[in-house]
Amino acid sequence: MSKFVEDKGYNEDQLKVLSLLKGDEEVCLMAAPSFVVDFDYDSFVPLMKGLGFEYTTELTFGAKIVNQEYHRYIHENKDNQEKFICSVCPACVELVKAKYPEMEKYLLPFDSPMSAMAKVIDKNWPNQKNVFLAPCFAKKREAKKYPNLIHATITFSELKDIVSKEKPTPLKGSHLFDRFYNDYTKIYPLAGGLSATLHSKDILTKEEMVAKDGVKNLQKLFDKHSDKKFYDILFCNGGCIGGPGVASNKPIFVKRKRILSYRKGAKTEKIGKRKGLDKYTEGLDFSTEF
Ligand code: SF4
Repeated sequence: MSKFVEDKGYNEDQLKVLSLLKGDEEVCLMAAPSFVVDFDYDSFVPLMKGLGFEYTTELTFGAKIVNQEYHRYIHENKDNQEKFICSVCPACVELVKAKYPEMEKYLLPFDSPMSAMAKVIDKNWPNQKNVFLAPCFAKKREAKKYPNLIHATITFSELKDIVSKEKPTPLKGSHLFDRFYNDYTKIYPLAGGLSATLHSKDILTKEEMVAKDGVKNLQKLFDKHSDKKFYDILFCNGGCIGGPGVASNKPIFVKRKRILSYRKGAKTEKIGKRKGLDKYTEGLDFSTEF
């Protein structure tokens, strides 16, 4: 790979990532699970290792943690709280706070999968730098809340640009992520993915739940004072697969298919220990304020 040169039209975030990769410390890439919309799963990890990342992981374990926290909180509070609004999408949190302040108290007070995962990585492998690969700019803003855990953030488009300019040679070896897997939450970035993986039968009825994506639909939902109890909301059309940091212009149904096939394929892989990961979260606090 060529030496990184600062005159290739890179923006500040791209330069930050490249400078981390050039530095002495090990760098871990944390990929949002929607990355398969823009990257080929089988070649992604070798390509990232060729670019200089020592470790690669994705956020599905973080999504599982968020689900567990949501489930517990709703179970404990369902009789005395009117509504619960998912807070995994920072643009939705911003929307609620700005346009529906009377609903702010219903935002579920927990980390997103990104920040939960950053805490897990920091606890278990503290001496490294972490780069988050994001589908949107709202996630970049959210990551700035954790400057000691997430040291740089780039979008899928920005990473594709780096790859096309630096032309890394893929490192020979496994195509599997290094750390933390969870299969069922691989559909988290899809509209309705969170409610589909919440195991909500014992805490909510189907009628009490609503899943909506796209800002116009969200506004309609809140403007008509919906009487639903649980709101699984994502700001972008189709969910994170429609994020503004995604490079692909393919239709949502094509992107959706890629996520579903990623999940299906991952189920058949021998990826080592999937159970017992809870020990990695011991002592961590995933609650937050907005
Ligand atoms: S729905 Fe859109 S804005 Fe929200 S986290 Fe996903 S990509 Fe970002």
